[in-house]
Amino acid sequence: MKILVTGGAGYIGSHTCVELLNAGFELVVIDDFSNSKPTVIEKIKTITGKDFSFYEMDYLNRSLLEKIFKENEIGAVINFAGYKAVGESVEKPIDYYINNVSGALVLLDTMKKYGVKKFVFSSSATVYGEPKKIPLTEDCHVGETTNPYGTTKLFIEQILKDIYRSDSTWDIAILRYFNPVGAHESGLIGEDPEGIPNNLMPYITKVASHELEKLSIFGNDYDTKDGTGVRDYIHVVDLAKGHVLALNKLDKEEKGLFVYNLGTGKGYSVLDIVKTYEKVNNVEIPYQITERRKGDIAIYYADPTKAKEELGFVASKTLDDMCQDAYRFASKK
Ligand code: UDP
Repeated sequence: MKILVTGGAGYIGSHTCVELLNAGFELVVIDDFSNSKPTVIEKIKTITGKDFSFYEMDYLNRSLLEKIFKENEIGAVINFAGYKAVGESVEKPIDYYINNVSGALVLLDTMKKYGVKKFVFSSSATVYGEPKKIPLTEDCHVGETTNPYGTTKLFIEQILKDIYRSDSTWDIAILRYFNPVGAHESGLIGEDPEGIPNNLMPYITKVASHELEKLSIFGNDYDTKDGTGVRDYIHVVDLAKGHVLALNKLDKEEKGLFVYNLGTGKGYSVLDIVKTYEKVNNVEIPYQITERRKGDIAIYYADPTKAKEELGFVASKTLDDMCQDAYRFASKK
């Protein structure tokens, strides 16, 4: 039985392919390279010393998808395909709903046709909207997402819940990621956004490598220890390992729809990240304090207990590792 990985050349997808191959899974990977590079596929093979089938295609292409299910014995699907830029989703909501929601539906409907009912979904902590309590547990209220990207994640979660309610032979893991950062320690794969990054860590990395002049810190008047926003940053390799554990859970007898936070449970401020990045990489990150970014929340971090108890998931990498690995990848490019 093989695992179909959609969006396997992307940031989280590529790291997960590495961990799956290391754990002995056989893979079929698809990607349309709309936000990733073809060279990533070779790099996954170099890191692991293992081979897998790869198809360059859009996961909305149902006939090609069917061909994959006919040609391979697929046992489970992990879905990383989808658009992920928050700001862009506000500009292009239709594109986001088509690619993320319709894409997931085409995939799920094809799975149903071929009798494949194990599904791992890349969701996001953004589904919690404005948190009512911190740390966030999986039973916290979801909804009132603040942008179409977040709403696509919320809608797909609801679709999965409805599918499971209608047919309890499905086996589904919804993984709510907190803030994935860092890169593989080889420096061969990592986060490589086009243009000016929106997220903190890739922005800092571009300042460190002098591609951008200075970081703007969006507000230092939040009710946090130093006034800057606090988030739960998780090393992408830890996050990738969470997918292997989730697949193992789906391989067990008991069927279900399981929801897990994948975070560390630790909150770090923007200034913590800047200071740590400077220290471990021996670089300077010039910054200025600017206005708060619209829609930003002061403090957001996970309670990771459920994933620890039910999956055995514990994030082991430190903030030093996250900053070091992010910079190593950028320096090697
Ligand atoms: N942030 C910042 N400057 C930037 C990008 C982000 O000060 O150029 C802050 C942002 O306000 C938040 C934290 O860094 O407090 C993490 O932001 P990111 O966009 O990476 O993640 P998200 O807000 O989606 O959790």
